Amino acid sequence: MDCIFCKIVEGTIPSKKVFESEHVVAFHDIQPAAPVHVLIIPKKHIASINEVEAADREVLGEVLLAAPQIARQLGVAESGYRLINNCGSDGGQVVYHIHMHLLGGEKLGGLNVKPV
Ligand code: 5GP
Ligand code: ZN
Repeated sequence: MDCIFCKIVEGTIPSKKVFESEHVVAFHDIQPAAPVHVLIIPKKHIASINEVEAADREVLGEVLLAAPQIARQLGVAESGYRLINNCGSDGGQVVYHIHMHLLGGEKLGGLNVKPV
């Protein structure tokens, strides 16, 4: 499958991994938007949150459970952080392999809810 994040899971594209568990991998974003910017992804290819199924509940639970572990590991659990999922064109999704952005390490601006 021609998917950048599947290739990162396979290891054919390099990444700076910060976390790995049975169903999940997390790595530093290549273009960080904050001092800490990690992408948390399921190893399974799911295009977006629109495509999730009930059978994915364990995998998605593992994605969420990874967030506080990574935050503690990178020293932002106490200072705080933001988890973001972009879905589809209007949501700003560029890579169609579901992922959660974990952003922190500075006081983040308010959510931009207006069109760009
Ligand atoms: P989206 O806009 O789809 O929510 O976010 C995709 C994110 O993936 C962007 O923040 C972008 O910088 C990141 N990204 C795209 N290609 C790569 C890559 O090859 N390696 C890493 N580490 N991040 C990537
Ligand atoms: Zn994929």
